[in-house]
Amino acid sequence: MKTIKRPHEMKRITRSLREKDTKVGFVPTMGALHEGHLQLVRKAKKHSDVVIVSIFVNPTQFGPKEDYKRYPRDLKRDISLLLNEKVDMLFVPDVSDMYPQGHKSSVKVGELGNKLCGKSRPGHFNGVATIVKKFLNIINPHKLFLGAKDFQQQVIIRKMIKDLDLGVDVVTVPTVREKDGLAKSSRNRYLSAKERHSAAALSRSLTLAKSLVKKGQRDPNKIISDMKALILKESCTRIDYISICDPDTLEKQNIVKRPALIALAVFVGKTRLIDNLLIK
Ligand code: AMP
Repeated sequence: MKTIKRPHEMKRITRSLREKDTKVGFVPTMGALHEGHLQLVRKAKKHSDVVIVSIFVNPTQFGPKEDYKRYPRDLKRDISLLLNEKVDMLFVPDVSDMYPQGHKSSVKVGELGNKLCGKSRPGHFNGVATIVKKFLNIINPHKLFLGAKDFQQQVIIRKMIKDLDLGVDVVTVPTVREKDGLAKSSRNRYLSAKERHSAAALSRSLTLAKSLVKKGQRDPNKIISDMKALILKESCTRIDYISICDPDTLEKQNIVKRPALIALAVFVGKTRLIDNLLIK
């Protein structure tokens, strides 16, 4: 696996791959890799000639009171996991190379970025879209691999690619979960044993919602109130939002229609966790 730090070097390599019509699959990550990331890598391996993974904790997508500084960083372990998966290239740029002094331009994602997670993380999705756009400019992949766990992110990136005519295929990979249903996340490391136990309620609440819809419940407020009760029974939990919405526009549904996205963010202790379920 070749490790590349400098954007201009990455660009030189990917330009020559394009010239040879090599199909490049790209998996952007913030590192502290887990099985969820590795599923993206495996999917990318299946669909590409060359797989490039990036590890970059992107400062512009963190709010001033968020966990940018303490976000888990474990490059040594990440590299060994990626070597195991036979990844071709790892791109690990420095912040100063991605955002040199005087860097001003950014992508504005509009309304989609103000819904769901955007309400409590203002500017987050502009930061995400800006770094993904920069990576796409540098790497110019054929396919981009994203996780369904960050459903809103995936919707917004697809929209940006369409709006800005970027011509990259997006492949969304299903959420990888722990045995008790908790969606794998780099932030799960923050949880104490007690919090880890409580965190399993997030996915249980989604399963409950699915079964209520299956039984014919169409009132989103009733479903959300049952989900809330289930989550708040656990210690250390505080709900940021629960929404039942259209999976493309992310607009709230007044009556549950298929397809529906049930998305939530819950604080467990100080850790904000997200999860979602798509009802087709
Ligand atoms: P992150 O490192 O958290 O920015 O995530 C990098 C990519 O991995 C994003 O496309 C995420 O949606 C995806 N991802 C993170 N956790 C999971 C998971 N549990 N299952 C599937 N994909 C995931």
